Amino acid sequence: MSMLRPKLVLDHVSEITPSLLAEHGLGGLLLDLDNTLIEYGSYQEAREVQAWAAELMLGGVKLYLLSNALPERVRFWTARLGFSGVGLASKPAPRAFRVAARQMGLAPAQVAMVGDQLFTDVLGGNLAGMYTIMVRPLADNALPHTRLARRVERLVLKRYGLQPWSKT
Ligand SMILES: [Mg+2]
Repeated sequence: MSMLRPKLVLDHVSEITPSLLAEHGLGGLLLDLDNTLIEYGSYQEAREVQAWAAELMLGGVKLYLLSNALPERVRFWTARLGFSGVGLASKPAPRAFRVAARQMGLAPAQVAMVGDQLFTDVLGGNLAGMYTIMVRPLADNALPHTRLARRVERLVLKRYGLQPWSKT
């Protein structure tokens, strides 16, 4: 069960700062796309997230997008965000996580996986030997299996003594 435990639970990616990363010996972030950086399925401008990413990169932090979404969609967002990434990543399988760390020129232990889902982002990041940060999902699609997963995620967080968000 401990493979499902995020090291840190935050409300929003913008709470991640260069000093927070330095504190944990981290040089890069592996970022989930949907419901982590932008609302699920969105193609709309995301100025706050773009500014946050630009500032981190200026601070020497390496960023890489790791998504299970289609490559076309991932390419749209990497072009807009100004860093590389990959789609159809088959998260939580740890292979793509390790390949991404190599692309970033970092060891897995120097990378934090940041995402809104325990069973893909956090599990895969932990399996790959990375630091893991769970963020509050930006907007949920109403698919029944997603709602069920959210309920289970909350139970797991509580079991670990981590504070789940009151509402997602
Ligand atoms: Mg997501």
